[in-house]
Amino acid sequence: MARKRLDLTFPPRQSLKPVIYHLVKDYDLVPNILRAQIHPAQEGRMVLEVTGPKEAFQAGVAFLEEQGLTVSEAASDIVLDDERCVDCGLCTAVCKPDALTLDPDTQKLRFDKDKCVYCEACVIACPRRAISLTF
Ligand code: SF4
Ligand code: SF4
Repeated sequence: MARKRLDLTFPPRQSLKPVIYHLVKDYDLVPNILRAQIHPAQEGRMVLEVTGPKEAFQAGVAFLEEQGLTVSEAASDIVLDDERCVDCGLCTAVCKPDALTLDPDTQKLRFDKDKCVYCEACVIACPRRAISLTF
């Protein structure tokens, strides 16, 4: 069984085609959309977690590439550098799923991996460069 996060880039001509539907119907894969920015006739981005049998996973990725999508592995974790972090809370303001919060008692930064959708907003927001993504 394979389970991976994929970063998809849709060319404008494919932006409204139901390619994710085909992953389910034709390849028996289970996609979970973590993030998507899709607009008609524009390049789109999507971060997807895909689960399914290994062979089906590889065939599904090949199908996406045949459709003209660029497929790469998405980040699978974020790393907080405690030496650099000063618990200023700036990153919590851009973290829409509330994966990053300040502990109300200690005012220390907390990270909830289960809520993170690997959008990278916190990486950009941190003035101390205390957050990085791993693959
Ligand atoms: S923005 Fe950077 S320094 Fe501030 S709390 Fe977040 S990780 Fe720590
Ligand atoms: S990458 Fe950062 S901002 Fe985005 S959901 Fe994860 S913790 Fe929050």
